[in-house]
Amino acid sequence: MAEAAAPLDCLVIGAGPAGLTAATYLTRFHRRSLVVDAGRSRARWIPKSHNCPGFPFGVAGTELLDKLRSQAQGYGAEIVSGCIAKLERDAVTGVFTAIAEDGTRWEATCVILATGIVDKMPAMPGLEEAIANNVVRMCAVCDAYEASDDHIAVYAPVDEAIRHAVFLRTFSRSVAAVRSEPGEPDPELAALAREAKVAVLPVAKSLEHDGRCCVFKLEDDSAHRFDTVYPVLGGDGQSKLGAALGATVDGNGEIETDDRQQTSVDGLYAIGDVVTGLNQISVAVGHAAVAATAIHNRLPRNFREDPEAQPETAAELPSP
Ligand SMILES: Cc1cc2nc3c(=O)[nH]c(=O)nc-3n(C[C@H](O)[C@H](O)[C@H](O)COP(=O)(O)OP(=O)(O)OC[C@H]3O[C@@H](n4cnc5c(N)ncnc54)[C@H](O)[C@@H]3O)c2cc1C
Repeated sequence: MAEAAAPLDCLVIGAGPAGLTAATYLTRFHRRSLVVDAGRSRARWIPKSHNCPGFPFGVAGTELLDKLRSQAQGYGAEIVSGCIAKLERDAVTGVFTAIAEDGTRWEATCVILATGIVDKMPAMPGLEEAIANNVVRMCAVCDAYEASDDHIAVYAPVDEAIRHAVFLRTFSRSVAAVRSEPGEPDPELAALAREAKVAVLPVAKSLEHDGRCCVFKLEDDSAHRFDTVYPVLGGDGQSKLGAALGATVDGNGEIETDDRQQTSVDGLYAIGDVVTGLNQISVAVGHAAVAATAIHNRLPRNFREDPEAQPETAAELPSP
């Protein structure tokens, strides 16, 4: 009977900036790893990132993903398409089994979840084109600099809209908070909006764009044009594989880890946007470096053998 293949040292789930960087590190540590990816990285939405270290003239999200993938594959990383539907952990051996939607299974000593989040997007005709043209932006930390002095709106439930609008006042004198749903602001936030000169507008009935700016029609039938709209409608942390194993998840559906990126489940690590904290490319690749190094250091040592060495005695020969 054929012997079952030994478990991988590490299975990486997700090939965004986090998972691809982890693959580069693990392969360069001469570890047996594999990446499985469903192909929906948030980074693919980025028209051009200007805060990604090492790209002084900016980099498109798709170009960055291609470069990170080439770098990992250049060292021999194996990356396959697929969506992991279930993750199990043997209570005795601690070995993980991941099962893809098509039934393919992999066993691994450690697993890295690099599954990201999925943004809740506004209902808007031509949303992809609006993001590509930078009239809708998804991340103020990432790109508010590029929107400096624009006429900006934040579209969100009112308290969230005010918090983000006040943050954006660093970049523009003209920032409004547009309600995505009915509701009155917390009195302290209402005072903050007045102090910061942020206009708090009624609930939007519709949001459209013409490629150069966005137009909200509000419930009072007024129309308002903005150069840039930031929707802040939340996101779904892709944490369910970890949560099913008992990993601690915060109120946003993001996974909590220790300072080596290990979750509350032994051998299960989480990196990138799926982890509690700032959702940024530089954070995702930093998490990846920390997790991959911690995993390498916990695995049995993989000392390099001398490829020229011959067994000295018959006793050292492998049995047939
Ligand atoms: C419009 C926009 C602009 C942005 N601009 C910037 C910027 O300028 N600078 C910056 O730092 N950040 C920016 N970001 C944020 C940045 O894209 C994310 O921080 C980054 O992509 C996170 O990387 P990640 O690897 O954690 O997750 P992702 O890149 O989201 O990758 C997760 C991967 O896991 C896969 N996956 C999920 N579940 C499974 C499963 N069960 N099985 C297999 N695969 C799975 C997904 O399909 C996806 O491919 C922007 C985001 C958006 C939307």
